[in-house]
Amino acid sequence: MKMTRRGFLQAAGAATVVGLAGAPYLAFGASRKVVVVGGGTGGATAAKYIKLADPGIDVTLIESDEYYYTCYMSNEVLSGERSIDTIKFGYEGLSKHGVNVVHGRVTGVDVRAKKVVTEDGHYFAYDRCVIAPGIDFKWDALEGYDAKVAEDIPHAWKAGTQTITLRKQLETMKNGGIVVIAAPPNPYRCPPGPYERASQIAWYLRQHKPKSKIIILDPKSTFSKRDLFMQGWKRLYGYASDNAMIEWHGLGEEAGVVKVNAQARSVTTSFGDEIKADVLNVIPAQKAGNIASTTGLVNDKGWCPVNLKTFESTLHKDIHVIGDASIATGMPKSGYAANSEAKVCAAAVVALLNGKEVGVPSYINTCYSIVGKHYGISVAAVYRLAEDGSKIVKVSGGLTPMDATAEQLKREVLFAHSWYNNITSDIFS
Ligand SMILES: Cc1cc2nc3c(=O)[nH]c(=O)nc-3n(C[C@H](O)[C@H](O)[C@H](O)COP(=O)(O)OP(=O)(O)OC[C@H]3O[C@@H](n4cnc5c(N)ncnc54)[C@H](O)[C@@H]3O)c2cc1C
Repeated sequence: MKMTRRGFLQAAGAATVVGLAGAPYLAFGASRKVVVVGGGTGGATAAKYIKLADPGIDVTLIESDEYYYTCYMSNEVLSGERSIDTIKFGYEGLSKHGVNVVHGRVTGVDVRAKKVVTEDGHYFAYDRCVIAPGIDFKWDALEGYDAKVAEDIPHAWKAGTQTITLRKQLETMKNGGIVVIAAPPNPYRCPPGPYERASQIAWYLRQHKPKSKIIILDPKSTFSKRDLFMQGWKRLYGYASDNAMIEWHGLGEEAGVVKVNAQARSVTTSFGDEIKADVLNVIPAQKAGNIASTTGLVNDKGWCPVNLKTFESTLHKDIHVIGDASIATGMPKSGYAANSEAKVCAAAVVALLNGKEVGVPSYINTCYSIVGKHYGISVAAVYRLAEDGSKIVKVSGGLTPMDATAEQLKREVLFAHSWYNNITSDIFS
């Protein structure tokens, strides 16, 4: 008879208890099942790394879509610098690692019975569950804008269909048209994202529709890498001159776009100004992906509080939340951060399932932004857990220097593309 590892552990029974006193799950032959909800950057990384660290753990990844489109580099699709196919990934790589990949939408998690349920009525039992649903939008925060309107006036803040729609609208816009980007309030996915987007669109317009303009309406008074962006915009797009292709209006906290008129393709700010656009990109206020609130994992602001050493929810035992949905105090909501959190979480889950002590983690993040041809900028940091565990603190890092040479700025673009190839390979192959 061929005996599986699980079968062996079950057959070993009481004798094993003595030898594996520190590993209760193994000792009693329990199944050690992990269910990961959401196969984006965080979830796919966690599933792969749990399996790599301990192939004996049964890992199921449940993802609603057949393919994942990375938001990172999706702004390059808007400028026409890359095609949508180059940011599309399937799940064969994870299956090869032994992850059980299921395509379906998770509609609930029974936290008492420790089961995840999908739309088609299937149940998946878990010992530990990792939830990585990314973001959803606060549709009620903006009059006249909802999921239906967003099909025509895209946010494109989840890459895929809406990225294609926005690109098509830019292609058909007249030379001399106005692009309005309504940036989101904090906290949101990818702090430099709206400004990289403006840069990439300007790059396209500069070459093909040079009389056009981009207006960013921002409910903030500053933003990530602001000085570096503005310097790049001045050099490449005449920022702050009479001939500026990009205008940034920092309307301030508590201000911003409050209303969208889909028919007129206009937005109204909290100061009562109505601005008409030829192409309108509204990026609404955000919250943790809906399944997090359905499961009771969110606070009153809509995000998930977690233990920063293990990413276990502070609201529900045995459920970990990683990526944009979690409150990783001290780290931004970025893909690289989600990837890093996933590895910390994977190590913790494996340790906990094996009855071992969880190690002290460190974390990493880098965000590249491509401002134009041969012109990249970045912010990078390495972090550790604060002594009292209350936050993640930066121990080193930095920004592209303001006096970087043309060669250094050019190299940042190469680093950005190399980072992209590395991280997508790390997650999906
Ligand atoms: C324009 C733009 C540019 C960006 N650029 C960068 C960058 O340069 N660098 C960087 O580090 N980050 C960047 N980001 C941020 C990055 O994309 C996110 O921070 C990252 O994707 C977060 O990972 P996540 O796993 O939390 O969520 P996601 O990657 O969004 O994954 C969530 C997954 O969960 C699935 N899901 C949700 N609910 C369910 C459910 N109920 N059932 C089943 N599946 C479900 C979704 O389908 C999705 O696949 C950018 C973002 C944007 C919008």
